[in-house]
Amino acid sequence: MELSKGAVDFINDDYLHSLIENTKEDPVRIREIFEKSRRKQPLTVEETAALLAIKSKEGLEELYATARELKRSIYGNRIVLFAPLYVGNLCVNNCKYCGFRSSSKGTIRKTLNHQELVNEIYNLEDEGHKRLILVFGEAPKYTPEFIAECVRTCYATKKGNGEIRRVNINAAPLDIEGYKIVKEAGIGTFQVFQETYHKETYAKYHPADTIKGNYMWRLNAMDRAFEAGIDDMGIGALFGLYDWRFEVLGLVSHAIHLQTTHGVGPHTISFPRIQPAQDLNIELPYRVTDEQFKQLVAVLRLAVPYTGLIMTARESKEIRDAVIEFGVSQIDAGTKLEIGGYQKDKGKAQELNKEQFQIGDTRELDDVICWLLEREFLPSFCTSCYRLGRTGEHFMEFAIPGFIKQFCTPNAMLTLAEYLEDYSSPKTKETGYRLIAKTLENMPESDQKQKILTKLEAIKNSKRDLLF
Ligand code: SAM
Ligand code: SF4
Repeated sequence: MELSKGAVDFINDDYLHSLIENTKEDPVRIREIFEKSRRKQPLTVEETAALLAIKSKEGLEELYATARELKRSIYGNRIVLFAPLYVGNLCVNNCKYCGFRSSSKGTIRKTLNHQELVNEIYNLEDEGHKRLILVFGEAPKYTPEFIAECVRTCYATKKGNGEIRRVNINAAPLDIEGYKIVKEAGIGTFQVFQETYHKETYAKYHPADTIKGNYMWRLNAMDRAFEAGIDDMGIGALFGLYDWRFEVLGLVSHAIHLQTTHGVGPHTISFPRIQPAQDLNIELPYRVTDEQFKQLVAVLRLAVPYTGLIMTARESKEIRDAVIEFGVSQIDAGTKLEIGGYQKDKGKAQELNKEQFQIGDTRELDDVICWLLEREFLPSFCTSCYRLGRTGEHFMEFAIPGFIKQFCTPNAMLTLAEYLEDYSSPKTKETGYRLIAKTLENMPESDQKQKILTKLEAIKNSKRDLLF
């Protein structure tokens, strides 16, 4: 288990604890930080701690307003949609919170074979999905070659107008050679969640005699990815294992470490909260309340303005509804966690002995799209940046104000129009075209606007995959 060159442990537990304990709400200081955020500058760990210390109603209101404003100005009103595809739940690790852990005797183990994987992809394409994240347990079978083969199958499997245009990965961290192999297959983001940045808690939930028991192997995962040439990484923490404020400071420290060491911050941050899982019987004294959850999302938005924030279907539709505007840029929809779950009858209840955990938002993709449209969010299946090479350092360059809007909003409209033509219900179609029309109305006359109109017309005339 060889670490990257110059590997460092950039998490100073004592310092992060002291920040949490000694930082008190200071109205003057937080105003200054909000001002800095409005200039779209990333925050330091100390400034992040100052925002985490906010408790007053007025302070929180201003935090949420600033997060809302920042999201709108950087990302526009689009929300990127994806679906997780669970390929296999074999696992040699024994993470105490997970339904796939090796000691969970009630879990039914399965890995999709080639045909089953193809069938899952067909079903996802039939729903209208274009972006997937492949999810794996950690097992000798799930080699980098196996993962790469699954990625290639996703890109090669097409049905009607359906195709998968971006495949992200959530799998065990690899060594440098392994990352090179999966990169070759054309992956999007490679996600590895640290789960908890707090070392003592990490040891408590990840037994030392398992691969995942090695904290540094995981903390260093993204540095190895960089050394292998992958510049599109996703980090995350599993909220509920330890103090939520410590985890936010850990995530921000991680982002700063990547930015200063490699010149590129993380592409995405995920902040899942622990959900019930098969035979899960552990005490969770650090459960994160809905109010804390809302605050942590808003603080992350301000701390890392150019990093996408992912809120998954672990959260209920009510929470997603309440939190989405504070800075979330990606959500999954129509999610099924069971291995082979997209081939099951729609609306069938979850069976926890076949799944990693219970989800909170069980709506189908079309319902989620309709909800977003009614709230005037533009659902997007765009994969343009990654396909045109706008990732990593380039992505950060392009993420300057206005640029994202210029590419992302048009691409969101085009991919939404494809969805409305090919897959949507009549109600969603009507609501979708209404929002597209309104978005166009608000755009000044320009060459760009004419190009969008021409492409939208072409989509109505059966052309597909038109991107900026
Ligand atoms: N096995 C790989 C690993 O551990 O890195 C792949 C990831 S695992 C299938 C995906 C993520 O699910 C984990 O990183 C963890 O954060 C999350 N997870 C595990 N158990 C969970 C639970 N009970 N509730 C919510 N999320 C959970
Ligand atoms: Fe295995 Fe990942 Fe679950 Fe841990 S979180 S038991 S490594 S699938």
